[in-house]
Amino acid sequence: MEELLRRSEKLTTVGQLAAGVAHEIRNPLTTLRGFLQLQLETAKLNTRHVDIMLSELDRINLIVGEFLILAKPQATRFEVKDIRFTLGDVISLLDSQAHLCNVMFVTDFGYEECRISCEENQLKQVFINVLKNAMEAMPQGGEITIAIRHHERQLCVSIADQGIGIPEEKIAKLGDPFYTDKDAGTGLGIMVSQRIIQSHQGTFEIKSKVGVGTTVMITLPLYRDDNSAA
Ligand code: ADP
Ligand code: MG
Repeated sequence: MEELLRRSEKLTTVGQLAAGVAHEIRNPLTTLRGFLQLQLETAKLNTRHVDIMLSELDRINLIVGEFLILAKPQATRFEVKDIRFTLGDVISLLDSQAHLCNVMFVTDFGYEECRISCEENQLKQVFINVLKNAMEAMPQGGEITIAIRHHERQLCVSIADQGIGIPEEKIAKLGDPFYTDKDAGTGLGIMVSQRIIQSHQGTFEIKSKVGVGTTVMITLPLYRDDNSAA
């Protein structure tokens, strides 16, 4: 019975998601079709229209891309990784972009054990999503502090920005698919990130204060080496 309930809940979620995706992809497709038709009727290329078509195509690509991360056809492979290196890779990846936006990354990793069992590419995707949101919340630039703390057998990664913050009534909506207030946003970053962290038996939490900043806290279970003599 419980299993049935769980499955039907899952199906509802999948159904809602599918409806959302179909809608989000149909909009740019309709625009594309309209503009293509126009090019055909006027028999000449309007470069402004072509620009719009390209950006609509990019949008579809972005949405489909985010879902591919979730769908992952191949079996997920969990490996033991030191999360400091995973974070380090993501920070180097975003560093030049951050520099251009006057954003500085400050790290506070500590020296304690940081090995976790994870699908590293998926975790990288989570950190990229969260760090990008942090950067986008600071149009004038600022600092993003990435800290690692330990609590019993859990590791906690916090990512704190000095950005615009999120009003309380909006916090509950975060993680709903397609919830975004950005012109070029997909509103999928947080949802995808939450699911990835869930599949790692972790937790994903957002605290924020308008005008002060936002902190995303991610906890993950530390790797237990059961073969080591205790
Ligand atoms: P997107 O970035 O495409 O809008 P996300 O799922 O990543 O989608 O984020 C959803 C919304 O949550 C954003 O549009 C923004 O309003 C809000 N948000 C997320 N992270 C932050 C942050 N660090 N500071 C302020 N607002 C944020
Ligand atoms: Mg985002």
